[in-house]
Amino acid sequence: MPIDATLPYDDANIFARILRGEIPSKKVYEDEFALAFHDINPQAPTHILVIPKGRYVSWDDFSAHAPDAEIAGFIRAVGHVAREQGLVAPGYRLLANVGAHGHQEVPHFHVHLFGGRPLGPMLTRP
Ligand code: 5GP
Repeated sequence: MPIDATLPYDDANIFARILRGEIPSKKVYEDEFALAFHDINPQAPTHILVIPKGRYVSWDDFSAHAPDAEIAGFIRAVGHVAREQGLVAPGYRLLANVGAHGHQEVPHFHVHLFGGRPLGPMLTRP
């Protein structure tokens, strides 16, 4: 079910639990600002989630409230992971779903990193 991205942060969400080490994840990268791990239900040969370590519900929350250092650190981590995964030359896609219309399901801000095959047009019509 998509979430309401205007709700306050919920510390019980699945990515908060992954950050606390309560639930395992296939980690690909971690630094002071970000954690990257493989999506449990991959939609492409490479499907990695990159999440900030801070408590942000969505892109909206993160872009409005995160300190500049956290934003810079997170953006650099996303770029680093894409380079480390060899995605730059073939190309890749970044996606951040926000709220109901964006079909965001996990209420901790995350960026999807897709690659490993031609990804086709950006959106399909319903
Ligand atoms: P959203 O729809 O919120 O943008 O994407 C949430 C993503 O999290 C989905 O692609 C889903 O497969 C992934 N996901 C949900 N639960 C887990 C989990 O426990 N572990 C991992 N690695 N990914 C998860």
